[in-house]
Amino acid sequence: MEQLLRDIAAVIGPAHLLTDPADTAPLALDYRRRYQGRPLAAALPGSTAETAAIVSLCRQYGVAIVPQGGNTSTCGGATPDASGRQLLLNLRRLRAVRNIDTDNNSLTVEAGLTLAEVQRLAEEAGRLFPLSLASEGSCQIGGNLSTNAGGLAVLRYGTMRELALGLEVVLPDGQVLHALSGLRKDTSGLDVKQLFIGAEGQLGLITAATLRLFPQPTARATALTGLSDSRAAIRLLSGLRQAFGDRLTTFEIMSSACQSLLERHHPGQLPFQAPWMALIELSDNGGHAALEDALVSWLAEQPLQDAVLARSETERAQLWRLREAMSETQKLDGPSIKHDIGVPSSAIADFLEDCDAALQAAFPGIRIIAFGHAGDGNLHYNISFTRPGNAHLFDDEPAVNAIVYDTVYRYQGTLAAEHGVGQLKTGWLERYKDPASLQLMRGIKQLLDPDNLMNPGKWLSPGPHG
Ligand SMILES: Cc1cc2nc3c(=O)[nH]c(=O)nc-3n(C[C@H](O)[C@H](O)[C@H](O)COP(=O)(O)OP(=O)(O)OC[C@H]3O[C@@H](n4cnc5c(N)ncnc54)[C@H](O)[C@@H]3O)c2cc1C
Repeated sequence: MEQLLRDIAAVIGPAHLLTDPADTAPLALDYRRRYQGRPLAAALPGSTAETAAIVSLCRQYGVAIVPQGGNTSTCGGATPDASGRQLLLNLRRLRAVRNIDTDNNSLTVEAGLTLAEVQRLAEEAGRLFPLSLASEGSCQIGGNLSTNAGGLAVLRYGTMRELALGLEVVLPDGQVLHALSGLRKDTSGLDVKQLFIGAEGQLGLITAATLRLFPQPTARATALTGLSDSRAAIRLLSGLRQAFGDRLTTFEIMSSACQSLLERHHPGQLPFQAPWMALIELSDNGGHAALEDALVSWLAEQPLQDAVLARSETERAQLWRLREAMSETQKLDGPSIKHDIGVPSSAIADFLEDCDAALQAAFPGIRIIAFGHAGDGNLHYNISFTRPGNAHLFDDEPAVNAIVYDTVYRYQGTLAAEHGVGQLKTGWLERYKDPASLQLMRGIKQLLDPDNLMNPGKWLSPGPHG
C-alpha cells in the first residue's frame, strides 16, 4: 500500500493525496452522519488523465475506489467502508469548462463543478440549466449524473438522464470512454453513456459531461394553494397539466404535519395552513402578466381552501423558501427514518391513505412527514416518531421500511426515486427489484469491473469488501 500511495502522489502531487486521518475523516463521514468510513487515503486528481492513471494503479494493486463528488448522498453512496483499504477518490478539482455552445444549447463541463456553478454558467450565457436541488451549492455534476438526480423541475425538464447529452468516463480498467457528444439524435449503436447515469460510481468515474441547456423563461407564475386532502391535490395536478401543458414546471406538496414543523421552527412564515398544500410554478417564454392572469383565473375556478400568488420576485422567493426549508427543518426536529419513494402520481392519494393506515395500526401515534415532488410521483415520506419517548426510532426502522416499501411496490412504485440506493437501501433492493433486472445489472458490472474495484459494498456488489 505504501508503494501505491507513493505512485499516486507522483501522479497528482503529494499535496493532493490526503493520508492523515484528520484530513480524510470528514470526507469519509456521510451527509446524514450514519456512516463513518476509514479510507486508505483520499486522492484529489486534477484531470481526466490523472484520474485514469490512479484507476490503473489501483487495478494493478487490487485496491478498491470509492468515487466522491460533493458528498451530499443521503444513503451513504460516497462513503468508504471502515477497512482502511479503500481509496476515496474525490473529483472536486476537475473544474474546467470545456465548451459552451449556445447555438446547440449545450455546455461541456468537468465533473467537479457544483450544480450551482453550472446553473450560473448557463445563466451568464443567457440559457437555463434546469436541474435544481436544495443541495445545489455543494453537490457536483459528476454526483448528479451518478445518482440520476431529479429535484424541483423534473415535471418539465426531466431528470439528469434526460439532461445529459454526452459523457466522458474513466472505466474500471483505466481506459477513457470518449462519449462527449452534443447530439440529440444518434442511432449508431447503443447509448452506452446511460449505463453510467444512476450507477452510483459502481461502473466507472464520470470526469466530464455535455449537458442540455434551455431558453431562460421570461415569465413565471408561482402560487401556494391550500387543499382539503391529498386527492384534491392530485386532481389539481391533473387539471393543471391539461390546462398548461409543459408550462407546469413545479408541483410540490406538503402535509399538515410538515406545516406544523415549519410553524414550530420558522414561526409566522406560512401565509395559511391547510390539510395539504401545493406549491405551483408555471414558466413560459411569453409575457409575465399574461401567465399570471391565466393562472389566477384558472385557480379561481378550483375548489381550493386558500391560495396566495407571488406578486414579486421577493414573494416568490418567500414561497420557495418554505419548500426548500423542509429538509433542514426536519433535521432541527431530531432524527427521522427517511424514504425517497416514487409511485405514479395518479396513485399518490391511495398510497398515502394505505400506508398511513398501516403505519398507524403498527405504531399508534406515529408521526409521518410527507412532502415532495408530487408532480413526478416522488415523495419524501419520513417517520420522526414511532413510540412515546422515541428512544427506539431506529430499532423500528426495519418494520417501518417493510410497511412503507410493501405499500410502494403494491402501487408499482420504487424505493429510490432520486437519491439512489447507496449502502442504506441495498438489502431492500434485493427484496423488491425485479430479479431479471438485478441479474442484468450484475452482468454489466461483471463485464466492466470483474475485479469489483469500483465502489464495492454498495447495491451492485453488497457484502464486505477490501
Ligand atoms: C439537503 C439535500 C437536498 C437534496 N435534494 C435532492 C433532490 O431534490 N433531488 C435529488 O435528486 N437529490 C437530492 N439530494 C441528494 C444529493 O444531493 C444528490 O444525490 C446529488 O446528486 C449527489 O451529488 P454529490 O456530488 O454530492 O454526490 P456524492 O454524494 O459525492 O456521491 C453520490 C454517488 O455518486 C457517486 N459519484 C459521485 N461523483 C461521481 C463521479 N464523478 N463519477 C462516478 N461516480 C460518482 C458516489 O460514489 C456516490 O455513489 C439532496 C441532498 C441533500 C443533502
